[in-house]
Amino acid sequence: MFFWLVGLLALGLVLLLGALSLYRDWQQEQQLQTQRRNFYQVQLKEVLETTLRAVELDTVRLATSPLLQRHLLHPSTNTLELLQEDYVSLARLRPSYDQIRLLDINGHESVRINRSGKDVYQVPADALQNKAQRYYTAEGMKLAPGYTYLSPLDLNIEQNEIEVPFKPVLRMVHPVYRHTQLRGLVVVNYRAEELLQQLNNHLPAPLHPILLNDKGQWLHGGDQQDWQFMFEPQSGLAVEEPSLWQQMASQDFGQLTLGQDCLLYSWTAYGSQQALSPRWLIGLRESGKACNALTKQYQIHAAGLLGTTALAGFLLLFGWHRLRLKHLQLYHRLLINEQQLRLVTNEMGNGVIMIDAQGLTRWLNPEAERLLGWQEKEILGRCLHDIIHVTAEGENLDREECLTTHAIRTGQRQHRERDYLCTREGIIIPVSMTVSPLPKSESGGAVITFSDDREKVTAEKKLRRQAETDELTGYLNRRAILQQLEQVIRTDTEFGIIMFDLDHFKSVNDTYGHAAGDQVLIEYTRLARELLRPHDCVGRIGGEEFLLVIKHLHLNDLYQLAERVRESMDHHRCIITGHTLHVTASFGLAMHQRGESPGALLARTDKALYQAKNTGRNQVIADDSLKPASVDT
Ligand code: GH3
Ligand code: MG
Ligand code: MG
Repeated sequence: MFFWLVGLLALGLVLLLGALSLYRDWQQEQQLQTQRRNFYQVQLKEVLETTLRAVELDTVRLATSPLLQRHLLHPSTNTLELLQEDYVSLARLRPSYDQIRLLDINGHESVRINRSGKDVYQVPADALQNKAQRYYTAEGMKLAPGYTYLSPLDLNIEQNEIEVPFKPVLRMVHPVYRHTQLRGLVVVNYRAEELLQQLNNHLPAPLHPILLNDKGQWLHGGDQQDWQFMFEPQSGLAVEEPSLWQQMASQDFGQLTLGQDCLLYSWTAYGSQQALSPRWLIGLRESGKACNALTKQYQIHAAGLLGTTALAGFLLLFGWHRLRLKHLQLYHRLLINEQQLRLVTNEMGNGVIMIDAQGLTRWLNPEAERLLGWQEKEILGRCLHDIIHVTAEGENLDREECLTTHAIRTGQRQHRERDYLCTREGIIIPVSMTVSPLPKSESGGAVITFSDDREKVTAEKKLRRQAETDELTGYLNRRAILQQLEQVIRTDTEFGIIMFDLDHFKSVNDTYGHAAGDQVLIEYTRLARELLRPHDCVGRIGGEEFLLVIKHLHLNDLYQLAERVRESMDHHRCIITGHTLHVTASFGLAMHQRGESPGALLARTDKALYQAKNTGRNQVIADDSLKPASVDT
């Protein structure tokens, strides 16, 4: 679950970072694009402004020249010729000037310079016309001193016919004043091809300049529609795209998509302070790229990013769902198995506990509850090992020693004949335990089966005791006492042994019978035991011959002990079927010498006993053959 959550979070983060990066890129590109377009837009206006300013300056110079003033004051053929020469030289200097004219106050041409191809010539006096009816003449005559009139840009018309090839023309008109009196006009016909070409030159592909008049008619950049209005006044963008045009007309600048192209436009007029200029819509057209193309491009990127992330998220969730489903199925199966197992184990005489892979209790059967004293609900989900698993002495069992740990780690079934569990009341129960690990693919864990071996252990102990005990006297039998002797020798403890044998016992049997003999054996061995400490070992090594293994006593003390036993027997009287029996015993003893074998020690003691028998019986003889220390008797 954790893994999947982290996965989804990481995915979300990637999406967020991707989106942020895209947004930043989009903003930057948008800014760049806007800057670039604005730059070119300014360039176009600059070209228009600069070109027209040059024409205006020329026109103003002609209209205010001292020569013209002189001519107005004293008109003469001479001054007229000088004016004509001046106009001709200007026309030669400016190939874009198609005509330069001086009109008198009545609109009649006084001077007219025409251009024919590269040639510039002065129109003879008889060919001069009256232009009073022309709109530019009318507009010019209204001008105050110092003002300039700039005509709309249109095609040149000669003899009422549009001149072919098309000749786009602008007329710059400046009034001629003598003091405050209007005396005429200077009109310069400027051929705008050069201007339009310069607009083209200032833009790199795929940008193209556009120029429309204030009626929404194409002057430049409209392809087939350029100058169409000259033939068909009801044409142009205003007619074909009225809503677009309305939008353009209502804003000083802006951008909009026209077909597949993006138009960036602004309104402009020739900007001299004292110029009356028509308004034009100037701008640029980016072909094949709608204004929102960049945004759309980034929207596609964003959609791609979103789609990819969504797909990855979907795959992640799908994977998680599949695994979860599998997990649930597994869990379901486990529950069924568990229920079946419970049913089976409820009837079992053994305790059964199921734990998960972490060693936490999942369930226990009634027998386990009974044996351990814990209710299932009390230890559910708790670490069983810490609660119940102990050593034989009741200490906490190291986890490494735990059978369950081994089983889960190795995946192998484990069995131990003797293990110990601590009940809720603190009783240590010996158990035999089997741990069967569950497949790791199915959630892992293990099933622990254990049987209460308390009775078995008691029975074993009893058997062992029986096997070691002499039935008649309750002493250890010969084998067991000799084993004890060997064991004491191995522990390297200081000890000695006493061997005693009842005197003339055969005659007891012979006189009073075997049962009476048994009775005597029972009573006299009891006398010896009563004088010994609980951990002293007593054993029967022959019919009426016994061995005592006494630890932590020196030879003298050992001797004293043997003497006390002998005395106790000597003083004792055994009443059997009305007869009072007095039985004595002879004692031989020896201290164990370091490194001495059991056989050698026994031989020395036996020899002492033999000596006690041979020298009068009912006495204690210590073997001092290895140790010269005298025994104070
Ligand atoms: P000594 O003083 O030299 O030891 O003489 P003793 O008669 O005691 O020794 P001996 O070895 O001659 O006789 C031992 C007798 O002990 C022989 C045997 O019948 C008897 N005896 C051995 N085991 C038992 C037993 O379990 N019950 C009875 N009633 N008698 C036993
Ligand atoms: Mg005897
Ligand atoms: Mg004997």
